[in-house]
Formats: sequence, structure tokens, C-alpha cells
Amino acid sequence: MTLVNGQWTGPILDNHFHLDRAARYLDAAIDFQRAGGTDLVLVHKPDFTNIPIDIDGWKTAYEETVAMAEQVRAELDLRVRVVLGPHPASWVHQSASLGYEVANELHLDAVELAIEFCEENLAVGVGEVGRPHWDAGEEIMARADEVLLEVLGLCKQANVPAQLHLDGNGEATNREIAKICDRVRFPRFGAIHHHAEGNVSKQFTHGLTSSVVVGRESIKDISDSIWKNEGGFLMETDYMDDPRRPGAVLGPKTVPRRTQALATSLIGKGIDAETALCAVHIDLPEALYGEYE
Ligand SMILES: [Zn+2]
Repeated sequence: MTLVNGQWTGPILDNHFHLDRAARYLDAAIDFQRAGGTDLVLVHKPDFTNIPIDIDGWKTAYEETVAMAEQVRAELDLRVRVVLGPHPASWVHQSASLGYEVANELHLDAVELAIEFCEENLAVGVGEVGRPHWDAGEEIMARADEVLLEVLGLCKQANVPAQLHLDGNGEATNREIAKICDRVRFPRFGAIHHHAEGNVSKQFTHGLTSSVVVGRESIKDISDSIWKNEGGFLMETDYMDDPRRPGAVLGPKTVPRRTQALATSLIGKGIDAETALCAVHIDLPEALYGEYE
């Protein structure tokens, strides 16, 4: 039993969390744990002031994320999965400075390297990859889609999931990304839409896996749409551990808190909250990333 008198007592996973040694680092993870959190998906934090310009630079950057995960596991006894990849904004910056050809090659090399980390069981997925969340102009947007197509082709070959950073055009974005997945036969289920909205109906998600950024209003949206969901969804804060934006996007305690709010909301609607939350925090993460080792 993971739901006792309406209280969720099971594991709690935040699917998109960054850490930075120069920021709150371990204290942020402690906040998550004290609020009831048990599992983090630590996503590589891009450093836009120092984007790697060769593959050795990427290797060093990824190794740093892996080392942080190890320290959090060792010191806090949290379960930490790692996701590694080149951020789409890095690609935009480098396309401007290095030209498309060089930027594309470096970007795809960085994805291949992330896949190698997955094959060595140092990571469980590629991310965050995707396309610019701002309107970068027609040419860049079209080229970003071409690069994403290749990225997902590599993930398909290697059979690893991808956390996608996308523009916020709702259903239209999801429809376009689903098409890109289909073109390279990457399963839509393995396309984890990071920073997704609370509408988890299949009509809206087009079968992508939503990782919902769980602001307060998202709980109602999830509760209202969950009966039309297929394949499950995840919860995240997109915590950035950025000293200039403390608590952004949402603070480290948010997923534990919203998990309880979601349990209460689902129970109020007569929906089986235990099954739903087991899917969010246990079954779906295992299906996507494999059992935690
Ligand atoms: Zn992120």
C-alpha cells in the first residue's frame, strides 16, 4: 500500500532537475528529500557562457554531471538517474558562431557521446535536446527540426529515451514532434516532453510522454484530463539551481507537495489515485529508463 488514508507514502520522482556546484547544489537536493522526494532525474545543465567547442569539452561537461549524481547518491541516499545531452539553445548559439555545418556535427557528436554514457550505464537517456522555445526565425526553426530528426534517429538506433525541450505552442507543438518521431520510427512514448502542460489527454499530447511542470494550476488540469490519458505522464520542477533565479522554474519541494495535492484531487473525483501515482513515480520511470540499479 502506497496510499494510506489519502496520504501518498510511496516513492516520489522529479523527472527534470538540475544541480550546480556553484549554486545551492546539495542543499537543493536535501530540500527535495526532506519534503518526501526519493528519486531525481538529474538533467545535464547547459552552461551557455561556456558551451563546449569540441567533443572533449562535452565529455568533461558530462562527467561533471555524472560526478554530481554520484555525490548526491552517496551523501543523501537519494536515487539519481542521469540524462545527458546538448541543449537546443547551445546549438542555436553555435550555429551563429561556428556555422550550421560545424554546429550540427558537434551537436550530433554530443548526442552520440551521451548515448555512449547510456551504454555504460552512467546515464539513462538523452536530453535535454529539442528545438528553441522562442521564435528564432523560420530558417533556424526549420534547421532545428532537421537536427532533431537526426537526434531522434540516433536515439531510436540506440533504443534510449529522449527528454525534449520544446516551444510552447501546445497541441500544435506535440503534433509536429509526433510527426518527427514517426519519420525515424522513434516511439512517441520515448519522447519525453519536458516542461509540459497539465493537459495529459492523448488528443493533446499525441502520444508523447508529458513531463508536467507542476505549478499549482497543473493539478486541476491533470485531474480533468487524466481519464483521456494513455501511456502515463511524469512530474517535474525544471529546477535550475540558478543563483540569479532562486526557486526557478519551481522549487525543489514542489513535486512532493503536488503529488499529495494530486492524490487529494483524484480521490475527490473518485479516480484511483494509488494506481495513477504508482504509474507516475514507479512504473513509467522504470518503463522509460529501466529499473533503478
Ligand atoms: Zn532543464
